[in-house]
Amino acid sequence: MHKLERLNFDNTLARLPDTFHSRLRPTPLADPYLVSFNPDAAALIGLDAAEALRPDFAEYFIGNRLLPGSEPLAMLYAGHQFGHYVPQLGDGRAILLGEIKNSAGERWDVQLKGAGQTPYSRSGDGRAVLRSSIREYLCSEAMHGLGIPTTRALCIVGSDEEVYRETVESAAVVTRLAPSHVRFGSFEVFFYRGQREPIAMLADYVIARHFPHLGDAPDKYPRFLHEVVTRTAHLMALWQAAGFSHGVMNTDNMSILGLTFDYGPFGFMETYDPGYICNHSDHGGRYAYDQQPQIGLWNLSCLAQALTPIIPVEEANAILEGYSSAFADHYVALMSRKLGLTHAGRKDFSLLEPLLEMMRASQLDYTNLFRALGHFKSAPDEKNSVLRDQFIDRPAFDAWAAAYRARLATEPGPEAERKARMDKVNPKYILRNYLAQTAIVKAEKERDFSEVDRLLALLKHPYDEQPEMESYAAPAPEWARHIEVSCSS
Ligand code: AMP
Ligand code: MG
Repeated sequence: MHKLERLNFDNTLARLPDTFHSRLRPTPLADPYLVSFNPDAAALIGLDAAEALRPDFAEYFIGNRLLPGSEPLAMLYAGHQFGHYVPQLGDGRAILLGEIKNSAGERWDVQLKGAGQTPYSRSGDGRAVLRSSIREYLCSEAMHGLGIPTTRALCIVGSDEEVYRETVESAAVVTRLAPSHVRFGSFEVFFYRGQREPIAMLADYVIARHFPHLGDAPDKYPRFLHEVVTRTAHLMALWQAAGFSHGVMNTDNMSILGLTFDYGPFGFMETYDPGYICNHSDHGGRYAYDQQPQIGLWNLSCLAQALTPIIPVEEANAILEGYSSAFADHYVALMSRKLGLTHAGRKDFSLLEPLLEMMRASQLDYTNLFRALGHFKSAPDEKNSVLRDQFIDRPAFDAWAAAYRARLATEPGPEAERKARMDKVNPKYILRNYLAQTAIVKAEKERDFSEVDRLLALLKHPYDEQPEMESYAAPAPEWARHIEVSCSS
């Protein structure tokens, strides 16, 4: 494990021509203080966790001092925002310090989000507020805990410098780690400029770094697109199964590696509602929970189009056609596991769909209902009253329970094993908006970050019973039912 001065930087992206990025330094922020530090993420970059205790630690991770070996830059990209192409986006407030190679040979991008203006800031101030930084930090680690591919978060550093949003807030920088920050929009920008060369160059770079098994085969570009399609389909299935809504699925927020990327007005659905919209600014519901799988495909079509200078159109279309079944296969497999079934099949939709419909009608908590289903007893005379009483339509539940019982009879192993299996896929704890909000208010008002750390620790193990934290599994209390989260961050 290394000291800050000895991190093993090797900046391959910085070595690409400046067509792809702009070099610049972060803009300093006064009096930085450490809000939270995540030792698990530190381990990924070989950073000694004891370094977080250094008085100058915060200076490095707010961008006031540069880590030796880093070559800071802002990446260029474009993207489709809410369906409309925006030709010039780019890192408007995030600065990539470089890539760190760990002892396992993995490379991790280290990025400071909120580190000041860049040539891509447009009218933005280059900053991020403490509130949104806490949300990104906690949610990336919560997603990782759930087993969902995601960027990671190393630490949050705050400053009392003021940032103007709907109200005056304070600035913070979250340090984000990812194997790559290349997004769909990184390719789109060159397609719309009519430049083939950078598209091929970026594809070659991404393939060499992240898909090395594709080598230099003549069909490497279509195979690369195929992998992105598969990974995205898998990610969408994981989001749906977890009840996660991203909120801003613009193509500039779509990772080329199929990671959950850029946490803004995201939300974990509480009451089951397929039309759930977590982003208060999304009036049309373009990115509603039940739209995500098809938006995943829409976004992939944008990527495929951007790759047409290097992949024949017919071939790109054929690859996109594989998305729907890849998504459905993953989704069925995940949902079957949530039901405790070991051999998944599409026919189990006939069990899943009425259950979801009953949950919707009874306005049940999505996460907690699946967790409770682990207690289902399949003895013929068992009423499963605790479960049954949650549903408004009891006869409908009884009919469903009979079908479920019959299906479980075809499963191997004792009931306790099924419950243990289900507990590994049906989380007890998710990052409910009100939990994040409580931590944010404490941080903002009292400069007390203990709740951030408590949630971080809790959400690392979302599938475990943590009896002393039982109350954190409760759905939003009345005061928090109407928390609104917008794009403002
Ligand atoms: P997001 O919705 O966070 O994915 O951001 C979309 C685009 O707006 C990206 O190019 C961001 O870098 C940029 N952006 C967002 N907030 C700011 C800000 N406060 N200052 C400068 N650029 C920003
Ligand atoms: Mg973004």
